[in-house]
Amino acid sequence: MVFMAASAQEIPTQAASHALSERTAGLSDPGYSSGARGEHVGLVDPTAATQAWLDGVPRGQRERSDAYFEGGYWLILWNFLLTVAISVVLLTSRFSARLRDFCERVTKIKNLQVACYAIPYLLLVYALSFPLNLYENFFREHKYGLATQSFAPWFQEQLLSLLLSLAGGTLLVVVLYAVFRHAPRTWWIWGTIVMIFFSGTLLLIAPVYIEPLFNTYKPLTDPKIRDPILAMAQANEIPVKQVFEVDASRQTTRVSANVSGLLGTTRVALNDNLLKQCTLPEIRAVMAHEMGHYVLNHGTKLLTYLGILILIGFALARILFDAAVKRWGQKWRLRGIADSAGLPLLALIFSTLAFFGTPILNTIVRTTEREADAFGINASREPDGMAKAALKLGVYRKLDPTPLEEFIFFDHPSGRARIQMAMDWQAANLPAGESHASENRPATH
Ligand SMILES: [Zn+2]
Repeated sequence: MVFMAASAQEIPTQAASHALSERTAGLSDPGYSSGARGEHVGLVDPTAATQAWLDGVPRGQRERSDAYFEGGYWLILWNFLLTVAISVVLLTSRFSARLRDFCERVTKIKNLQVACYAIPYLLLVYALSFPLNLYENFFREHKYGLATQSFAPWFQEQLLSLLLSLAGGTLLVVVLYAVFRHAPRTWWIWGTIVMIFFSGTLLLIAPVYIEPLFNTYKPLTDPKIRDPILAMAQANEIPVKQVFEVDASRQTTRVSANVSGLLGTTRVALNDNLLKQCTLPEIRAVMAHEMGHYVLNHGTKLLTYLGILILIGFALARILFDAAVKRWGQKWRLRGIADSAGLPLLALIFSTLAFFGTPILNTIVRTTEREADAFGINASREPDGMAKAALKLGVYRKLDPTPLEEFIFFDHPSGRARIQMAMDWQAANLPAGESHASENRPATH
């Protein structure tokens, strides 16, 4: 029985290579294309189909979402320039040095001195960035119809995230400066390790301890939606028994979903906007994409890429920091890397590196997103659902950018790229795999 199954499997492989040579020969064999599954191949032009999907979006809606997304390009620049300005003012005014002097008078314990510096520094940066934050994350979101919160609950959440970043940020700065004090030459290597450890921990605890502070996760009970999602999870060895629904409509009208967690905490969640706005084929397409992130191990991979970038960043930071201290150290009253008064200088260096590294970071993330798309289309087998979902994501992401624009600014594939992938998949018209099913299956007894 087992032998029979093995030899029977040869047949589809041969058929596949035959089909491949037929396609490269331009489908000239009428005997092949008369088959039930051959008929569609070559008749549907995936590029024309993609264009037809894109042309279905009303012009006004396209202009609106383009304007929203392109505004985001400028916000990257404004946020960067703001960080530069704040850092330069704190350093050249010697406010940074004075704050350090104050902390050294308050306590003799090194770690407390650093915390005493870090808390006012983080608060000051938050306060000075608040006007831009308010425009970017409140007024602008409302202007484009993406936000659902009035000012009071929005501001309340701002205070909560400020509190969390104060706690996390101060802890990180204290640990980093302890490393800087103990490893004056190799601080950039140990600093990298601290950053990777910190990012990994955040990735692990955020879905369990932080996200529930802002939103409620509850099990999805509708079997018409839940069961098809669980079936895809089961088919791809994803260890979940429940699908969660998150009330994202509290903050936004955006459609999204995620698979998060490591080890025993794996969780598949979709937001209520997705549930309200999308049909089952679209939901299956989106959830299959999310499962792709899990199966392709993207959390670990992204953390690895991030670690490499952080190492490069710290190595460059070491060169730039030493050069800056040599040139302006006396003027700004900075003593070296272990001096907390140099924190604005480090912030300046890292934000500069991140700003110029924007295309690299985006391309790394976009590449993994494309992998998840490829997994998703094969797991869900919903090309039209994928295309429709891509159009819905087009409400907040430009649908049809130039290739250079996509390379620099896109952390997900554009709508056009995603629809093209779906239409290419559809045009390939893959067999569902039922052929010879009964002969292939070994006996179960
Ligand atoms: Zn994704």
